[in-house]
Amino acid sequence: MSKRTLSIAAIPGDGIGPEVIDAGMEVLKAVAKRDGGFQIKSERFDWGSDRYLKKGDFLPDNALDTLRAFDAIFFGSAGDPRIPDHVTLWGLRLKICQSLDQYANVRPARLLPGIKGPLRDVTAKQLDWVIVRENSEGEYAGAGGRVHQGLPEEVGLDISVFTRNGVERIQRFAFELAKSRPRKKLTLVTKSNAQRHGMVFWDSVFERVKADYPDVETDKMLVDAMTTRMVLQPESIDTVVATNLHADVLSDLAAALTGSLGIAPTGNIRPEGDAPSMFEPIHGSAFDIMGKGIANPLGAFWSGAMLLENQGELAAAARLMQAIERVTGEGKHLPRDLGGKAGTKEVTDAVLEAIRTAND
Ligand code: NAD
Ligand code: MN
Repeated sequence: MSKRTLSIAAIPGDGIGPEVIDAGMEVLKAVAKRDGGFQIKSERFDWGSDRYLKKGDFLPDNALDTLRAFDAIFFGSAGDPRIPDHVTLWGLRLKICQSLDQYANVRPARLLPGIKGPLRDVTAKQLDWVIVRENSEGEYAGAGGRVHQGLPEEVGLDISVFTRNGVERIQRFAFELAKSRPRKKLTLVTKSNAQRHGMVFWDSVFERVKADYPDVETDKMLVDAMTTRMVLQPESIDTVVATNLHADVLSDLAAALTGSLGIAPTGNIRPEGDAPSMFEPIHGSAFDIMGKGIANPLGAFWSGAMLLENQGELAAAARLMQAIERVTGEGKHLPRDLGGKAGTKEVTDAVLEAIRTAND
């Protein structure tokens, strides 16, 4: 019988992106080999800031059509000190997410075995969240402008755009996800006391969508109060849905509470499956450590496990998560940002070894 081929477009991007994505591809191929049912065919695209500085664009003209032909995208990071961040972000990552309409950004946060988060007495059982971020509009819709530049009357506007379709589809996605998790619990985060148009709209759509999910328990929080709840009562939270900006901020806090930004994964999901979804560690290019061989690759590996799960390769996804957890649990090969001494290669080798030697 011929094996299924899973095609992955790897876009390492800038900074430590290539260091963690190349390690991640190695780990994905190892887990595919071990679990047998499928093989991985990958292609690596050198799209990013170096290309921009040479050619004036981050991606070639046909890049989005090229990407559509793949089952999934594995992305590193975008950001380079020589280019303003908004140029890089809009030219590369947001261009892919928005053109492929990957409207659901899923961000799990979980304390892995052996890792001491800053909330010392909290156990792995008490911190297991998924933050669902609206990924196509809202505060990052790109609407706005600058007028009278350089003059005292200069104005800069960023206009949040919330559409009924956009709000409803992300909330339904979050309800479905909450329903699939053991606790069946969803928290809506907005700021509807101060932002009295768009956020009140979010609240009202939620009330309607909620009626279709009687088995999901819900509650609502303002975003500022949510930060304190994440720190003081982590066990009270399960699945969270919030706008593009709010969920962006909350998920960096979630990453820090689980030990480090270097461990946190994310998927930019196109739930309809008519375009590939894109998986990436949530950290950026980390200029301060690039090229030193010390970047934590676990966020990229966990993102790889999300990719496999999204593609229906559940056994391989579980195998990879078990290998990651075995390495964190044993604690002998932890990267520096998690209090250990291991470099990128040592952590990668430890995970590869855990994949090879796992018992069935
Ligand atoms: P960053 O995530 O790059 O780094 C923040 C801090 O965390 C740094 O001290 C860094 O060394 C550390 N860190 C991050 N990832 C790590 C890892 N895997 N292992 C060990 N330590 C790690 O965030 P920043 O400094 O705010 O941004 C740097 C650049 O990255 C900017 O250009 C920014 O725009 C870009 N960025 C891109 C993305 C993306 O592409 N998704 C996300 C965030 C930031
Ligand atoms: Mn962010």
